[in-house]
Amino acid sequence: MTILKPIGEERSLLWRCMDLKLLMFITSTVTLVIGLVLLITWQRNQRESEIALYWSVGFCITGVAWAMVILVPHPYSAFSTVLVSTGFLAAPMFILAGVFVRGGTAVPWRLMMVACGLCIFVQLWYTLVANSELVRVLNLTVFNLVFHLIAVYLCLRSTADRVGNIMLAMGSLSIAAVLVFRIYLIAKNTTGGLDAEALVRDEVLVFLFMPSAMVVEGLACLGAILLDLIGRLTYQASTDPMTGCLNRRGFEDAATNNIAIAKRHALPISAVICDIDYFKRINDHHGHSIGDDVIKAFAGVLKDSARDADIVGRMGGEEFLILLLGCSMNDGIEYAERIRRRLRDIHVPSLSRSINMTASFGVTEFLVDDESLESMFRRADRALYRAKDAGRDRVETCLSIRGDVVVPVV
Ligand code: GH3
Ligand code: MG
Ligand code: MG
Repeated sequence: MTILKPIGEERSLLWRCMDLKLLMFITSTVTLVIGLVLLITWQRNQRESEIALYWSVGFCITGVAWAMVILVPHPYSAFSTVLVSTGFLAAPMFILAGVFVRGGTAVPWRLMMVACGLCIFVQLWYTLVANSELVRVLNLTVFNLVFHLIAVYLCLRSTADRVGNIMLAMGSLSIAAVLVFRIYLIAKNTTGGLDAEALVRDEVLVFLFMPSAMVVEGLACLGAILLDLIGRLTYQASTDPMTGCLNRRGFEDAATNNIAIAKRHALPISAVICDIDYFKRINDHHGHSIGDDVIKAFAGVLKDSARDADIVGRMGGEEFLILLLGCSMNDGIEYAERIRRRLRDIHVPSLSRSINMTASFGVTEFLVDDESLESMFRRADRALYRAKDAGRDRVETCLSIRGDVVVPVV
């Protein structure tokens, strides 16, 4: 057993260990590959979100930092201390920045820089003044751990996709676990006298786990990016970009769901279809762009008046369909009348004066013998055409269509 003095010498001994260099090389390569995959993901995703870019930069910098540890000769000079420390601190900082952006929070760059500056100062102190390589490494590891634990905390509090949050938290936790293990081993070695064999064995142990932890964190980042992308594409495929209401496809999917819920719990469900009256005149008189704003304001009124369980869909142009869960036809009529009255003082932000606008409504209820949504929507449509035929600005109902004859509510 060789006993070493707690000076820079201990690292030189570690340095002669080929196993350790090989493991660091593997860690560096794995980390760089993950960083490059994340970079390609960001680039292929039309560089839409900076999250993948931050994470890519984080992983690439860590990869380079591990390579620097292999290449920079020991003992460290002030320059190489700053270089290696900056590399290892920038990595968790960028990982954290991505987590901040994903959670919808501004990145506290200044605060993170101050923390990194403080850490680099301590690094320099232990290299140039106190001359203890192990305590220097301990300090860097603790700072890294703090960054990763903050990332875990932010992921668990984030309002972004829940599964993505859990995956990211697990990724950061896996690195945090290796760092805690390293801190424990370093503390053990600094307090119990320096045993060279134990020192090498412990570092090799740490670097056996490190590549796996990097892979877990990298996969967690990729998984979160993928889940966010799927979420965004699903949202885009089912939402009308102009009004934020569901589009026809999204509405049909959500309606099928709601009908199943209504059937399971024996709840009534009613459908309201509405169409702005003489909308072509609004377009002709105010222009297409103001016409768009009128549609948006109308959609706003429909959504404001609906509850969370209700679904509002834009069927095209200025025609909307609303499905009211747990509402009978009378509730549907009430809802439609409420909207009709609210249109009298509708406010269109781009118009300085109020606009004289009305809409017509058709209401129906889902019936026991309705085999599909289609039959209910056809009845709602019939009721709407009745409202248009009867002079517009009114609510009409329809509970059954026999041939071409509309049977009104009794
Ligand atoms: P009615 O009372 O019978 O409904 O008369 P209308 O003039 O509203 O007739 P209709 O519903 O058929 O007119 C729809 C018009 O809406 C035709 C089309 O030019 C216009 N339109 C369709 N989509 C949009 C859109 O996204 N923005 C704008 N500004 N206009 C649209
Ligand atoms: Mg119309
Ligand atoms: Mg129309």
